[in-house]
Amino acid sequence: MKVHIFHIGKVDVYPGTPIRDPNPFHKFGIGEKKSNKMKLPVSSYLIEHNGRKILIDTGWSREIAKTGAPWPLSDFAKPLLKKEDCMIRQLKKMHIDPSDLDGIWLSHLDFDHTSGLQDFTAAKSFHASAPEVKDKKFHLLRYQKNTFDMVDIQLFEFEETGIGPAGKRYDVFGDGSVVLINTPGHTDGLFSTKITAANGQYIIQAEDTVYLEKSIKEEILPGYCMSTKEAKKSVEWLKECSKDPSCLLIAGNHDPAIQPQTIWIDEKEDRPIEFHPHQ
Ligand SMILES: [Zn+2]
Repeated sequence: MKVHIFHIGKVDVYPGTPIRDPNPFHKFGIGEKKSNKMKLPVSSYLIEHNGRKILIDTGWSREIAKTGAPWPLSDFAKPLLKKEDCMIRQLKKMHIDPSDLDGIWLSHLDFDHTSGLQDFTAAKSFHASAPEVKDKKFHLLRYQKNTFDMVDIQLFEFEETGIGPAGKRYDVFGDGSVVLINTPGHTDGLFSTKITAANGQYIIQAEDTVYLEKSIKEEILPGYCMSTKEAKKSVEWLKECSKDPSCLLIAGNHDPAIQPQTIWIDEKEDRPIEFHPHQ
């Protein structure tokens, strides 16, 4: 199995977005200096497994590179994208067309994760967790419907397995290799993806459960949380995983410390996970 981590441009945010601030207005730039803004990467992941290809999140759309953000929220989550960095362009270089993708799995419906969907309408299927889609009606401002309403999103239910901070997970291929673990807090339906090799080593794509490298160690919550209590439990769970010698990487979606790379994960043979940075 191969897992490719791509950076689809950046998002320019106030520090209150990655690092929870006691003043909830700071993340919107109210009472906060523009010079404190941070440019964080926006990631998308391609997983190739047994001839199947799935994408987890899409990053910004091609349109964004041309016209900028169409939504009024763009000061506090401003997209920065060069044409050549669009996901569709990066996949084209690998000779992968949208119609070659078996599924697109959305970790949650924030627009920096769904914006690129409009470039991938030819993919075979689209998925998000049932609690995530149920919440979309409560987030009229946060969720930009026009970034995901053009595709038919199939809902999946997490299974109660006792695994993860909420005890819920979903096994994508049914073989235990790629498991979506519900890590609620930032949103209720958010998942982190745990990818496991035959030798027991694993990596976790933590999506927006944590933002920065230090967030896990110092238990720093994201600025946007639907439930700080759940978010805390999810970060604590990641912290426990980080102490496990079999856990080789925890990659937040917007963590500048995580570089674009391809990770070789052997799910059949007893071989160590290998990390190959993109040139
Ligand atoms: Zn995000």
